[in-house]
Amino acid sequence: MRVDVLTLFPEMFDGVFGSSILGKAREKGLVSLTTVNFRDYSTNKHHTVDDTPYGGGGGMVLKPEPIFAAVEDMVGQAGDEGEAGASPRIILMCPQGRPFTQEIARELSQERHLVFICGHYEGYDERIREHLITDELSIGDYVLTGGELPAMVVIDAVARLLPGVLGNEQSAASDSFGDGLLEYPHYTRPPAFREWPVPDVLLSGNHAEIDKWRRRQSLLRTLTRRPELLEQAELTQKEREWLEQARAERSAAGETERDDGGFSRKDS
Ligand code: SAH
Repeated sequence: MRVDVLTLFPEMFDGVFGSSILGKAREKGLVSLTTVNFRDYSTNKHHTVDDTPYGGGGGMVLKPEPIFAAVEDMVGQAGDEGEAGASPRIILMCPQGRPFTQEIARELSQERHLVFICGHYEGYDERIREHLITDELSIGDYVLTGGELPAMVVIDAVARLLPGVLGNEQSAASDSFGDGLLEYPHYTRPPAFREWPVPDVLLSGNHAEIDKWRRRQSLLRTLTRRPELLEQAELTQKEREWLEQARAERSAAGETERDDGGFSRKDS
């Protein structure tokens, strides 16, 4: 997979693209990650890339010319390589875009060539949105100073799904959202840490029982933290019945409130 990032701050990507799993994927040639400073495509004297908005108001707006020129240059190069049918996905990072999910990560991991455009300041000239891009992605309902961190988030999530990127030490199959559910809890040595033991079943060596325990933990965790995910998950009739029972037990015990994953839990 080829990934190109248009940014005014290429140095921000050095650490992320050079370290850990992404760094190794790049070394192994599984993914090429390139940054392009679209300031280099500005043709005016001071290499400006932004200007004040028509109609007034605060903030600066990214001009269309350098971004169009940079993308057209890149797409031209991809054509030169003779990649059959490889028209790139041109993705604008933007808080108004489609909310990024694991499903979109899977979809993008099937592509040959992705181009990310990182905004700054107030945002982009609307003609970029209307006439250049194929996708707009948001990483959540909050506003950051630039599209670099969002692009890194998306690239990381996509790259770890490419064949060969994750070693045996980690597998994408059972990860949260992989099967529409949150993942089960993990334990490692020691078997007893302070007064907290590892659940017996995990030490039993009985793999059928372990699988069953993990699946139920996964269902329970999804029920308590993200019940809305259960509507889309693929569950057997038996699992649905088991969940109904767990739901009933929880409400009988007065545990109707959603588990927020400890976010607002107060240390007492
Ligand atoms: N004025 C814009 C926000 C600009 S934030 C608006 O109200 O919609 C500056 C840049 O940061 C954006 O162009 C985008 O590239 C990036 N950005 C900020 N928050 C983001 C988010 N949640 N998801 C993706 N990109 C984001």
